[in-house]
Amino acid sequence: MSMIVARSLSDLRDVVDLWRGESLSTAVVPTMGALHEGHIRLIAEAKEKAERVMATIFVNPKQFAANEDLSRYPRDEEGDLAKLEDAGCDLAYLPNADEIYPPSFVTTITLGGPAKAGLEDKFRPQFFDGVATVVAKLFIHTAADFAIFGEKDYQQLLVVTQMARDLDLGTEVIGIPTVREDDGLAKSSRNRYLSKHERHQATAIYRTLEQAADKIRAGGDPQVATKAASRSLMTLGFEVDYVTARNAETLAVPTRNDEPLRLLAAARIGKTRLIDNIPV
Ligand code: AMP
Repeated sequence: MSMIVARSLSDLRDVVDLWRGESLSTAVVPTMGALHEGHIRLIAEAKEKAERVMATIFVNPKQFAANEDLSRYPRDEEGDLAKLEDAGCDLAYLPNADEIYPPSFVTTITLGGPAKAGLEDKFRPQFFDGVATVVAKLFIHTAADFAIFGEKDYQQLLVVTQMARDLDLGTEVIGIPTVREDDGLAKSSRNRYLSKHERHQATAIYRTLEQAADKIRAGGDPQVATKAASRSLMTLGFEVDYVTARNAETLAVPTRNDEPLRLLAAARIGKTRLIDNIPV
């Protein structure tokens, strides 16, 4: 059966209503396109969870600041649709920006908790407001039972999980582990911006996080280990936004030594900003 492509909410609803009439469970995988193996893994998880799988492709203008890479964000609609079809996706939803944000659109959701952890929110102040707005709309549009997100964007995963729960959106958020290149670099649509040299340097983020995690597992102080990781990234030529150890469930700064920890990092190499995180 070939994949359905819906470009408007009414086209999407026609299909979703039909599936609902047959009592089929559904899962959605929200993306910004330029799909790679990480996204495809999310589709595979969605297929495990539900009888019908939707992917959305929408480069959400609201989550980019004026100085960020909205206009040069990679786009490959034809390639993306082929990859989704190959992965066994049942429907691709590619809404129009004018339909998502008509000129009269003014509503925002006020976020708290993990959205105010002082990580991505500190360096990209509009980011989670934009993510929450579009994700809430996509959950409402698709009325999916499940939504699959990657741990790659760990703070985002916690933010959307909390929002869906707090607002009773009816969609259960599920996270899957980060898919990596053979050398450990987290797969990302933005990796294609890297020059050959930068691509080589970029592997240091994961390596440095793993070294810090090893030190903490061996009894080292998380603060000391992450500071050392940050310094070593700077020595390699990165501009570091943060390398930090946080409570894995709340992203709060840890206060006890028996908390589950997550190490999170964001750093720029050249013009490209990369993020990564790992469990301890
Ligand atoms: P994006 O298209 O980059 O906005 O990402 C769409 C979804 O794919 C988000 O839930 C991301 O966390 C997830 N994702 C992106 N890269 C990876 C990766 N390397 N491994 C797992 N999930 C990923």
